[in-house]
Amino acid sequence: MADLRFKNSDKRIAARNILCIGRNYRKHAEELGNKVPSSPVVFMKPVSSIIQDGGQIELPAFSEDVHYETELVLLIGKKGKNIPQSEAMAYIEAYGVGLDLTARDVQSTLKEKGLPWTIAKGFDSAACLSSFVDADAFDGNESLHFSMLLNGETKQTGDTSYMIFSIPYLISYLSSIFTLDEGDIIFTGTPEGVGPLHTGDAISVSLEDLTSAEFKVA
Ligand code: MG
Repeated sequence: MADLRFKNSDKRIAARNILCIGRNYRKHAEELGNKVPSSPVVFMKPVSSIIQDGGQIELPAFSEDVHYETELVLLIGKKGKNIPQSEAMAYIEAYGVGLDLTARDVQSTLKEKGLPWTIAKGFDSAACLSSFVDADAFDGNESLHFSMLLNGETKQTGDTSYMIFSIPYLISYLSSIFTLDEGDIIFTGTPEGVGPLHTGDAISVSLEDLTSAEFKVA
């Protein structure tokens, strides 16, 4: 179990399901040669894959090509099923920024075979999370910016206004399949600019000037 940390607060919430959206930014879908989807691509990671700010990324021995994918992360704060888009924002407890680490070589092989991505997406340390910021800090209408630096160089910048599927749509859609509840985490998809990690890399991610996180690759 992972107790999710909050910025400048002793508040903790136990992590529950980790739901992830693939291909939610047009340019990223294109950079991997994927079609822009007509409905969200959904996959999951196990809770055991979480590391938090200051944690160490362990590259799995079974992959030669682990990629970072920098994403806005939503933390759900209450139970909901079949949530209408008009009410979806009220289910967000907090926002964070994270890395959806992906063993790209393994994923490519699995994709070719039409097999699930779990191994490529669910290994230890594959879900890297910042501390969370209470959703009260946002009015729900503004677009959110996030960025990622690799060894001091900006590699990804994201803006939620470029999402194919909006945050309210994603919450509504996911809640039509899974009962959402406190502690559920939603990775909302990566913008373009993904790339490989190597031993010794230092990563810094930030969401506006509200929260950030540092990770080292072992
Ligand atoms: Mg992703």
